[in-house]
Amino acid sequence: MAAQIGIVGGGFSGLLSAWLLERLLGDEAEIVVLEAGDQVGGRVRTTRVPEAGVSYEAGVAEFYDIAGNPQLRHLVRHLGLETRPLTGTPSFAIDGRVVHDDAELAGWLGQRGIDQVRRFWERGTALRPPADYALAGRLQDNEHPWLHRTFEDVLGEIDDARGAWFTAMQCHSDLATEPARTSGLFGMDNLLIDHPGYCTMYTLTGGNDGLVRALAAQLTSPVLRSAPVTSVRADDTHGIQASCTTSGGAQTRDFDALIFTLPPPGLRSVRWADTTLSSAVDAHIRHHDHGTVYLRVTLLFRRRFWRDLFPEDYFVSDAFGGVTVYDQSPDVGADGVGVQSWLIAGTDALALAGRPDADVVAAVLGAMPAGVTVPDGALITGCVDRWTGVAGVSGLPGGVPLLPLDRRHAPDPRWPQLLFVGDYLYDSTLCGALDAVLHVVTRLAGRLTDRPLAPNAALALFAPPSGVIAAPPDPVPHAAFFLDERRRS
Ligand SMILES: Cc1cc2nc3c(=O)[nH]c(=O)nc-3n(C[C@H](O)[C@H](O)[C@H](O)COP(=O)(O)OP(=O)(O)OC[C@H]3O[C@@H](n4cnc5c(N)ncnc54)[C@H](O)[C@@H]3O)c2cc1C
Repeated sequence: MAAQIGIVGGGFSGLLSAWLLERLLGDEAEIVVLEAGDQVGGRVRTTRVPEAGVSYEAGVAEFYDIAGNPQLRHLVRHLGLETRPLTGTPSFAIDGRVVHDDAELAGWLGQRGIDQVRRFWERGTALRPPADYALAGRLQDNEHPWLHRTFEDVLGEIDDARGAWFTAMQCHSDLATEPARTSGLFGMDNLLIDHPGYCTMYTLTGGNDGLVRALAAQLTSPVLRSAPVTSVRADDTHGIQASCTTSGGAQTRDFDALIFTLPPPGLRSVRWADTTLSSAVDAHIRHHDHGTVYLRVTLLFRRRFWRDLFPEDYFVSDAFGGVTVYDQSPDVGADGVGVQSWLIAGTDALALAGRPDADVVAAVLGAMPAGVTVPDGALITGCVDRWTGVAGVSGLPGGVPLLPLDRRHAPDPRWPQLLFVGDYLYDSTLCGALDAVLHVVTRLAGRLTDRPLAPNAALALFAPPSGVIAAPPDPVPHAAFFLDERRRS
């Protein structure tokens, strides 16, 4: 008889889990995806605004190509999706001025400041070689000296107030939280996104939701929408049962295996009926719940009036504690519609999230960098996407210390087929979600079929043979790392 597998959540992790398990198990499994919302994709969401003839990324804005961890790139290629590189040399709008290169940065930071920041990068890269970065979130990170310190504490190594402030601000533009609320290691890992020896970035032509749409289109298993799972029972009498609400009323189904793809606030909203299970899930949530928020504010303008000052795909501003501002304008030259997308993070995002859209849009318009004047009548509309609660992100993925993989993914050892995946277990990105899914589906398929599976069996479904085990990346010289060096590479 085919194994009954339930997958809770129809975001990237849920759809990918279903897609891989269909291929690993064939007719040995019957799979169903249960999604709470009326559409799939979760935090990968491309919003189309037909009246302005444009679209923007409301959730995931950039795909990371991590040296030595090409898995996401392989999946994107395998699905036949076209990509476009993101230019990775942001300019900074800081302290009322715009900084485009090392000389301008040194002019603002001063020689001592820039030397101190350079030293910090030298130490940070020496402690985090690319081969380790490629395996972020694995157990060996417990040995890293900065995992057990806060990022705020680690920033204290920059013996220059301006240099420390600049580095905190730069990091905050990627990381969804404040330096005191995350580890030194996760803070450094976020800075390294800007280092081309570690990571480059790209987007999908036609919208980042192409990834989830491609997976969904290739699934043969049913995906039930508007079907939130509300309770789970796992005990010796009933086995694993999940209840969900659907338009036809409540339904309870029996499963041989159940994969949850919800961040901790979502797990908390489920009723875990068995006492032992409930306390195991509670402990899992307590360890991993470092939820924080993003606010995506997208402004559609009649034209791209900031282009001369900020010609690249994004810039970083010191507004809101450090914010990345993406230029998502369609590629039709300076005269076309301009799309500016502000990814506000952490405390400022939380404070703004409760305010009406008009106030949020006004706050962003008021934070335009010096030298950028919004022409009268230029704003077509402003869109506010609030990513809080179950849709938020983890500011300390994996928690401290990181748990062994089996415990991380299966909180109740009595029920190894009740599994949890998600970016909150690794690095708060699609790459981490992919790592989590690969681990879980390979284990599960082996367990259900009682057939030994190669550790890379799931990865081999979409990676070329040479890419199954990624070669360790070439060592990057542990040089200081600044704007001009990035431009050269
Ligand atoms: C604003 C923002 C920007 C981001 N930018 C990037 C980026 O640029 N690059 C990057 O790599 N990552 C980025 N991330 C992180 C990225 O979005 C996640 O890593 C990824 O989308 C995780 O996918 P997932 O399927 O694990 O979770 P989700 O996408 O959250 O999917 C979970 C699904 O479960 C559903 N669900 C919730 N509760 C229930 C329930 N009770 N029953 C059934 N279904 C339920 C939800 O509706 C959702 O569809 C960003 C995140 C946010 C919020």
